[in-house]
Amino acid sequence: MKRKKFLKTTAKLGLGITTLATALSSCKVEKKEVDLSAININFNKTFKWRMASFWPKNFPVFGEGDLFFIDWVKKMSGNRLDIKLYAKGELVPAMEVFDTVQDGTADIGSAASYYWLGKTPAAAFFATAPFGMNAQQHHSWMVAGGGYELWKEVYEPFGLIPFISGNSGVQMGGWFNKEINTVDDLKGLKMRIPGIAGKALEKAGGAAMNVPGGEIYTNLERGVLDATEWVGPYHDYKMGFYKVAKYYYTPGWHEPGTQLEFFANKKAYESLPSDLQEIIQGAAVRVQSWTLAEFDAKNGIYLKKILDEGTELRRFPDDVLKALKKYSDEAIQEMIGNDPVAKKVADSYYSFKKRINPWTDITEKVYYNSIQEM
Ligand code: CA
Repeated sequence: MKRKKFLKTTAKLGLGITTLATALSSCKVEKKEVDLSAININFNKTFKWRMASFWPKNFPVFGEGDLFFIDWVKKMSGNRLDIKLYAKGELVPAMEVFDTVQDGTADIGSAASYYWLGKTPAAAFFATAPFGMNAQQHHSWMVAGGGYELWKEVYEPFGLIPFISGNSGVQMGGWFNKEINTVDDLKGLKMRIPGIAGKALEKAGGAAMNVPGGEIYTNLERGVLDATEWVGPYHDYKMGFYKVAKYYYTPGWHEPGTQLEFFANKKAYESLPSDLQEIIQGAAVRVQSWTLAEFDAKNGIYLKKILDEGTELRRFPDDVLKALKKYSDEAIQEMIGNDPVAKKVADSYYSFKKRINPWTDITEKVYYNSIQEM
């Protein structure tokens, strides 16, 4: 950038060169001085990116997160990074989002990493695992427990770099037209439940069915499905499941805190000036914070609506959960197999869970159980 223009720009931003330098040199990360030589800012250069999303356009919370991210990046960068959203199916089908960012057709993707366990089984753990950690624990693993570093390592060979971009919190167990009182009630149960949890249900004698979102309602109504999982009260209400299913079961053992993701093409990301890279990270963290807050706020409102419609709320009996836990553990072990990367990530995930659970048990768990009685 020409000196004159740089002076003009910094003046516009209200920063003298001295104050800018002072501000930068006083920045500290992990007690280390910021490496000023790594700061490379070019206020003149603009970038146009494409985002391929797994989520349909305006899909509550998930799709809204995409739009917020794009908007915040645009505003923070002074329009120097302009991202165009391609919602589900607009550029590629949802299941091709990973490939299309990998090959550079899109620069950034939006999804949840458990959709990519066919690429690398390790990816599953960065989203969630049946009977795994809740949103708060998972976030702690990601940010302060080495989870995010591992995630970057796992995506590196694909030329991708991931970012945390929201968590659904613990989901609901799903909608049922059959009562689940014993483990035997899972036998022959036709349920829409994807992924590892679906495999666990099959081990229990059920039939895990992969039904597209748009067809679940009709299949429940016609008895093609006995049950379905979806998300939580907000999304489930909008799908109208309370009209075609009798019982709403808790808890969502299969998704105790689903972490969402953005992932950038590494080459595209590395070609950005350093401030735009930081802006992407900052905007993603802001989406992470907004998403869980929005899920919780809306779920509270919509749970009441669902109960007002006459839905019967049920809790899975303990022995059913115990059996599903056993089958989930088996399914997870089969998924990991001999894959050393998946094993490494699973070791980190479960050792972190083991360490944090006693703390959660004497604080959050006791607290929630106590206030229920008041
Ligand atoms: Ca779900």
